[in-house]
Amino acid sequence: MYSFRKAGASSAAYFRKHRRVKMELLKQRILKDGRIIGQDILKVDSFLNHQIDVKLYNEIGKEFKKLFSNKDITKILTIEASGIGIACIAAQYFDVPVVFAKKTESRNLDSDTYESEVHSFTKGKSYKIRVSKKYIDSSDKILIMDDFLANGKAVLGLKDIVDQAEAALAGVGVVIEKGFQDGGKTLRDMGLNVQSLAIVQSMEGGVIQFL
Ligand code: 5GP
Repeated sequence: MYSFRKAGASSAAYFRKHRRVKMELLKQRILKDGRIIGQDILKVDSFLNHQIDVKLYNEIGKEFKKLFSNKDITKILTIEASGIGIACIAAQYFDVPVVFAKKTESRNLDSDTYESEVHSFTKGKSYKIRVSKKYIDSSDKILIMDDFLANGKAVLGLKDIVDQAEAALAGVGVVIEKGFQDGGKTLRDMGLNVQSLAIVQSMEGGVIQFL
């Protein structure tokens, strides 16, 4: 169903041009259907994280593959719930499994887990995330993926789990980064390879502006 031949055979210039066009698709959709809640929440649930535009997800998946194509990723790690769909579509291009951190304790989950604490920006409270030790180990090269990057707490919690597993962190793929919050800077200052498909620089006065 999916072909990488064209992307694989293309020049760096092709990649750059192609990426710009694809990002443009996402940016246009954010401008068309995104809604601003309060000062700093961008609601995109008509296409990204409640109702899902699968074709757009597919383009997002291809973009991530291009951005991290040379990293020998062995697993994509995300967090339930919004990250799962994006990670699964992208994973088809990487041909690797997706592991998602669970937010709730359940009898289904193995007792031997990596755990970390995440402070939720949207919910204003902290919660625990867990990943079974069966599914990440020191041989893995992990790509962390999420729908939004705000203050970086979700990514830091996932990174903590990667570190506990002594796996390598190859990069962080984010669909929408809010550049006016400090997560992107924090993670990049730590030396992480953070790639965002759209960076919202400002939402002041109800106007969305990209970097
Ligand atoms: P962070 O941990 O970087 O502070 O926040 C990222 C997490 O919070 C993401 O997993 C995402 O689900 C949620 N989030 C943060 N900001 C927004 C936003 O503006 N809109 C939506 N829909 N989710 C957000």
